[in-house]
Amino acid sequence: MKILVVEDEEALAAALTEILKRNQYSVDTVDNGEDGLEYALTGLYDCIVLDIMLPVMDGLTVLRQLRKRKISTPVMLLTAKSDIDDKINGLDCGADDHLTKPFVTGELLARIRALTRRTGEVNVDTFNFHGLTLNKQTYMLSYGNNSVKLSLKEYQIMEVLLMNPNQIITKERFIEKIWGFESDVEYNNIEVYISFLRKKIQSIQSKATIHTARGVGYYLEEK
Ligand code: CA
Repeated sequence: MKILVVEDEEALAAALTEILKRNQYSVDTVDNGEDGLEYALTGLYDCIVLDIMLPVMDGLTVLRQLRKRKISTPVMLLTAKSDIDDKINGLDCGADDHLTKPFVTGELLARIRALTRRTGEVNVDTFNFHGLTLNKQTYMLSYGNNSVKLSLKEYQIMEVLLMNPNQIITKERFIEKIWGFESDVEYNNIEVYISFLRKKIQSIQSKATIHTARGVGYYLEEK
């Protein structure tokens, strides 16, 4: 899953990024509202952690613009202790949740899990596609009684496929989702990971596998 952090306090932004990465999220971090809006408008994120007091454009304006342009990505606002009005305004502007600074890591992660769960997921710990199951905690990919462990990048690619089961995912989108806009990862890196994944999927005798849409990208399909 991919998270956008919009926070201008350098130490807090770094800590948030570190915590989220350690918990298997892909993270983009920006330090002002204008960049936050630009990134968020791509619609690539599963959740946005948005500070209210930001340079260039404040968080509530970012949020209002997003909702006006029909971007429904779950937003968690970060508010200072005293800003009761901001909380109310935030919810009115279309925020899904808010957290008061300072907060503890466990609560932040629990809230993010709750927000990202709302997008139609039933089981919290696994993704499923026609019997092919991916465990979010252990990175184990299973089919029937067979299991195989995925590496972090394999897991992230599989997660994107399983979250969008009926869509072709382009190589470009994989790169944006997993490595970020500014990475120098090339298309053949994706091809290599896909071939690793196919071997693992084959090793557990899954009927569902990754198909190639020639010249476009990849999708999951049952054989
Ligand atoms: Ca701030």
